[in-house]
Parts: sequence; structure tokens; C-alpha cells
Amino acid sequence: MDPRIIRKILEGYTDEVGVEVSTDDDRYANTFCPRCSGNCRKSGPGPTILNAEPIPQFNLECLSCGCVFSPRSGLIVEMGNLGLLEPPEYLIG
Ligand SMILES: [Zn+2]
Repeated sequence: MDPRIIRKILEGYTDEVGVEVSTDDDRYANTFCPRCSGNCRKSGPGPTILNAEPIPQFNLECLSCGCVFSPRSGLIVEMGNLGLLEPPEYLIG
């Protein structure tokens, strides 16, 4: 749908989902990968409405191994690849 039409429809309504999303951004800023403890970035699917409650549904993707997981439930959506990790220093030298 055209974003201009969506903005017109939503005029006058409070952005409750956006507030929940920014609260979750702060909460998960220091969440690390459950498989390799790497840093993560936010990944889809995006905020949604469940039982008339705004749910900031998104996953986190590990920047090191590519593991994708839900920060709320801990459910791993994609296992990633631990072979992508840099070997420890003592194995290189
Ligand atoms: Zn990882």
C-alpha cells in the first residue's frame, strides 16, 4: 500500500507500536548471540498487533555467525554458521 495513504489513514492516532519498538531497542542493545556471543543487529519481521496489543516483533541477527533468534523467546530461527568465526589467537600464532 502507498505509504502516503497509510499516513493519511493513521492521522490522529497515537503511535503506540513505535513507543514499544524504541523501548525494545534500548532493552536489546546489549543482547549477544546465543551461539557465539557476537554482537547483533535488528532483523525482520517488524512490529505487529496481537490481541489488540502492539507487539514489537523482530529478530536479532548475529554479525559474526549469522544466527537469527528472537530476543523475547530465545527461539533460534536460523542456526548461522560457526565456521565463519575468526579462529582464536592462540590457534593462529
Ligand atoms: Zn553468533
